[in-house]
Amino acid sequence: MPKEKRIRTSDIWTLFTALNSEFAMCNMCKHKLSYKSTTNNLRKHILARHPTVALPTNKVPAINSAFSNQNEVKLFLIKKYIYY
Ligand SMILES: [Zn+2]
Repeated sequence: MPKEKRIRTSDIWTLFTALNSEFAMCNMCKHKLSYKSTTNNLRKHILARHPTVALPTNKVPAINSAFSNQNEVKLFLIKKYIYY
């Protein structure tokens, strides 16, 4: 792999799988998206194609009320979309 850093801290990666340094695949619809230098495309995809899925960021309006904190929301998303 190129010089690119391997650390991906963005929570968006609970919803996407990185295929390489340029493309990521949506875990829900398997759509391939470019994410060169920014994950904004990935966030836009979630908002456009999966509006019922709350992004695991600071803002989780759709399901936030059902959970008391962000960690619970993350666990919920991980269980629902990664480990099923
Ligand atoms: Zn998708």
